[in-house]
This record gives sequence, C-alpha cells and structure tokens, in this order.
Amino acid sequence: MRTQIAIIGSGPSGLLLGQLLTEAGIDNVILDRVGKDYILGRVRAGVLEEGTVRLLDEARSAARLHAEGLPHNGFSLAFDGRDHRIDLYGLTAGKRVTVYGQTEVTRDLMEQREASGALTIYDAADVTPHDFDGRTPFVSYEKDGATQRIDCDFIAGCDGFHGASRKAVPEKAIRTFEKIYPFGWLGLLADVAPVNHELIYANHPRGFALCSMRSVTRSRYYIQCSLDQKVEDWSDDRFWDELRRRLPAHHAEALKTASSFEKSIAPLRSFVAEPMRFGRLFLVGDAAHIVPPTGAKGLNLAASDVHYLFEGLREFYGDRSSVGIDAYSQKALARVWKAVRFSWWMTTMMHRFPDTGDFDQKIQEAELDYLTHSRAASTALAENYVGLPF
Ligand SMILES: Cc1cc2nc3c(=O)[nH]c(=O)nc-3n(C[C@H](O)[C@H](O)[C@H](O)COP(=O)(O)OP(=O)(O)OC[C@H]3O[C@@H](n4cnc5c(N)ncnc54)[C@H](O)[C@@H]3O)c2cc1C
Repeated sequence: MRTQIAIIGSGPSGLLLGQLLTEAGIDNVILDRVGKDYILGRVRAGVLEEGTVRLLDEARSAARLHAEGLPHNGFSLAFDGRDHRIDLYGLTAGKRVTVYGQTEVTRDLMEQREASGALTIYDAADVTPHDFDGRTPFVSYEKDGATQRIDCDFIAGCDGFHGASRKAVPEKAIRTFEKIYPFGWLGLLADVAPVNHELIYANHPRGFALCSMRSVTRSRYYIQCSLDQKVEDWSDDRFWDELRRRLPAHHAEALKTASSFEKSIAPLRSFVAEPMRFGRLFLVGDAAHIVPPTGAKGLNLAASDVHYLFEGLREFYGDRSSVGIDAYSQKALARVWKAVRFSWWMTTMMHRFPDTGDFDQKIQEAELDYLTHSRAASTALAENYVGLPF
C-alpha cells in the first residue's frame, strides 16, 4: 500500500491531522495498535482553547461541539477558605475556553473520518517506522498474522508518550527533558450536576482538588493523592468526604454526590523531546511532550503541533516548498516550552509537595492572593490559560 502521510496513532492528534489533510486533498492512512471502542473508552482532557476549536472547525468536525460544548468565561481559584473568580473573558479582551470532553472530540473526528472514506487500520500490532532518514520511508505492522507495509512520503508519530515513533529515533539524535512530580491525581466521573458552573482549582493543606465537568449533568472531580495509593483504596464515600474537606465551606455544602462510573489515578509528569522532526518522521502531541494536567494544556498542545505540521505539509504539496516542514520543530517547541512552564507553575503553586511545610503553604497562599488581586498577575494567568496564539 502507498499513501502520502502515514499517521501512527488514532488519538486526538492523529485524527485531527488526518482530517485536516483529507480536507486538503492529501492522502493519509492512520494506524493504531488498539481498537476504536478502547480509544473511546479513555477519559482524559476536557478544556479546549479557542485555537483548538478553530482547528476542529477547519476539520469540519465541530458541529456537536458547538451544540453541546460549554463556553466558560472564567474559573475560580480557591484557597484559605475562600475563592476568587478569574475573569478570563474580561482579562483577555473576549477570549474563553470550551468544556467538551476529549472522548467526544475523538468520536466526532472518527465519525468525520469514516464519512470521508479515509482509511484507519485499528488493532495493528508492532507498528514501526522505517528509513525516515532517507527519501523513501515506510511503516510496517502486523495484522491478521501477516506483516504489512505502507510506503509513504512522511510519517507522523502521533502515538502518545508510550508509542513506537519516538522509540524508533536513535538515542544520539534526541534530547529529552523530564520532571516527575511526587503525587498523582485521583479522578472520578459521576452523572451529577457540577458544584459550580465554572471550574474550581483548590489549594488546600490536605492537597489540591479540582472541580470540573463534562456537561451540565456530568461532573469530573479530582483530588491530589500519593503515588502509592490505589483506586481500590478509594470508595466513593471516601472520595466525596476528602473532596469536601479541600473546598471552601460554601462549595462543600453545595456539592452533590452520586455513584461514580469511572475512577482512575494519573501520575503527573513534565516531559519534552527535542527536536520534533527526524528526517521524514515528525513527532506530534504526547509522543513529543507531556504536561501535568493542571493547566489543561495537553490536548491543546497536540492541536497546535498539528496546526504547524499541517501548514508545513500543505505548503510542501501545494507550493513545493519545504520551508514550513523545516520550521515545524522550532515553531512547535517554542509554544510547547511556554505551556510546559505554565503547567509546571500552576502545579507548583496549587499542590502540596512532600516537603511543603507551614511556611511553604503560606507562600502559596500569598502568591494566590497576589494573583487574584493584581490585574497584571491575573492577566498573565488568564492569557496563558486561554492559550497563547498559534
Ligand atoms: C489519564 C490522563 C488524563 C489526562 N487529563 C488531561 C486533562 O485533564 N487536560 C488535558 O489537557 N490533558 C489531559 N491529558 C492529556 C491529553 O489527554 C493528551 O495530551 C492527549 O491525549 C494527547 O493526544 P495524542 O493524540 O497526542 O496522544 P494519545 O491521546 O495518547 O493518542 C495516541 C494514540 O496512539 C496509539 N498508540 C500508542 N502506541 C502505539 C503504537 N506503538 N502503535 C500504534 N498506535 C499506538 C494509542 O492507542 C492512541 O490511540 C490526560 C492524559 C492522561 C493519560
């Protein structure tokens, strides 16, 4: 088989890139090691920047997002028993974020891809990129007991942090930067009205908490937990009690609870691989970088990578120019590092670290107090939260 772009990974970055390419008349094939239902069973991000929504519009995959997504003009920072609203809309001259689950983004992109007739190969084992340092790269994979091969012009490695693309790059050609945080997030999903119509990020001496949602009837809540804890240690009742303790009293009293239908623990990590291009192989999204979810940046960074790569590939095929693809890594990384910094800063300010003492807690509260009372500081926070331009 032959295609112009072989895309490894059918997560948000692979699907979005595939759909933009298909719309532009550039042939592509997506391969994923698992099946569609497994991918749609993953509960992950939920806050979309305007740039991400714009790209989904461009991919003609945003009709349901516009009908069902919740535009948010602000969020709350809770600390020291009180909370303060950050007016995103007012501080950024009219920008906002949209709450719409990653699962739904993925489903919409998959449906649009199926409607456009582009090929996705699910359950492909041992997907491996080859010869990307030359002019004739190809991807091999195992399916139905046979080894298959797809020849292509370029390979897009959209296969997440544990994927095969980054691993295929010789060690001496890549440099990685990593920070592991000494805690995780225990997340719970329940069909119950959210405690607040906007997100609440809470700093508390017992640890961080986040009140988030997927819709007006479905809540997504998180509490910071230690890495040695197991989901089985946390009954729903224990989770709700702990969440209440970390919220200001008026929110704790208003919190409605229900049985959860998903609970999971996610470790927190910052990771960047440089560069993001190796000959005819490009790394995109989580394959190249991971951020802790505190700043809601993971999915949005995947989208900005896709934007830079798509523009480069369109130029390559449309104008016979490689200027765009040559600049891909540098342009993507410039935005990635700013989001990595923002996510690290939010994480550091909002969480309890093993060595956080009373002094450090007071410093965090002083920083939050300054943030919420200084227009300049609030503006810097808001500008980053709604997403830097791309
Ligand atoms: C538990 C969790 C919670 C998160 N919460 C948030 C959040 O609240 N906010 C936020 O902004 N971000 C969050 N993120 C991050 C966000 O989900 C990611 O940034 C986003 O999924 C990146 O998309 P991607 O397409 O680059 O990678 P992925 O979504 O990881 O998709 C990669 C795809 O590649 C496939 N694949 C992997 N290896 C191979 C292989 N060898 N061969 C073929 N296919 C392969 C996988 O099956 C998958 O379908 C969370 C991530 C996790 C893991």
